[in-house]
Amino acid sequence: MPENSHQSLADELREHLVYMSELGVHEVDAAVPMVPHREASTSVGKIDERVPASEIPEILSSKFKTNTEETPRMAPARGKRDLLGGTKLSDVTVPAESKRIAPKQEHRKEEPDPPAQEEEMESVESTLQNDSLETIRAEIGSDCSRCQLCEERTQVVNSVGSAKAQLMVIGEAPGADEDLKGEPFVGRAGKLLTKILESIGFERSDVFIGNINRCRPPQNRQPTLEESAMCKPFLLREIEVVNPKVIVVLGNTATKNLLETTTGITKLRGNFVEKFGVKVMPTFHPAYLLRDPRKKREVWEDMKKIRDFLESSND
Ligand code: SF4
Repeated sequence: MPENSHQSLADELREHLVYMSELGVHEVDAAVPMVPHREASTSVGKIDERVPASEIPEILSSKFKTNTEETPRMAPARGKRDLLGGTKLSDVTVPAESKRIAPKQEHRKEEPDPPAQEEEMESVESTLQNDSLETIRAEIGSDCSRCQLCEERTQVVNSVGSAKAQLMVIGEAPGADEDLKGEPFVGRAGKLLTKILESIGFERSDVFIGNINRCRPPQNRQPTLEESAMCKPFLLREIEVVNPKVIVVLGNTATKNLLETTTGITKLRGNFVEKFGVKVMPTFHPAYLLRDPRKKREVWEDMKKIRDFLESSND
């Protein structure tokens, strides 16, 4: 091969390598048949002998294109080979004027259209601004069947209480008494909750009370993650509408679900956690207190912290 052809080949190859380097491809899979001609080794390092040297740019182009579509950086593969005989692509100097932006343009195509995204955000904000407890309740409906808990419930148990409540109480799901009456926290545990609230100066009617799931799980089992995921958005909207200063979340399951944590109630209780821009106090569920009355002391400590916080915030 004439000397000027070697030079031209080497230049072309270098240009392709620079191009690949800009896109993060630092090594090339040997499965690609690359350089063939023994003479070419003087310019481009140690090479294979299967493909005519004149095809190198085309091969590199097609290989590069394929890998760019999948991932911008070629994964280490069997039989990797360094095209420049030990010189990595990252070692090649990239002239400033050769910077290419084509791959970024490809990424942009996958992003949502900014005006469409803005419209969607405006629509969500508008919905939240115009939301009300009545709208939320109407949307849920009395015959909601969004999750499996609809199958054995008597009725949907919606939240109750003041839309201007400073204090919100959230449990896991209705029990048997609540399922029959259609109101949260009305059984024995509910009566104890009422007493606990009164101990820090709150009438039940001053507080907003609800559950993450609004239908009673069969045999009082824990709601599944899927069941909770279907119902929880309505509660989150209620938090947005009521905008309480403090949320008390009762029991392990509700605490983990609401705070999206795997940490248990025993570690979390007694300390405020900031969530949704609201102070959230995890504490034991009244049903647990009925089984182990010694835990009432801890709940009392937690409730005093809530009372003190609300008093100081109202000063
Ligand atoms: S638990 Fe919630 S989402 Fe599931 S059926 Fe009842 S109201 Fe609907």
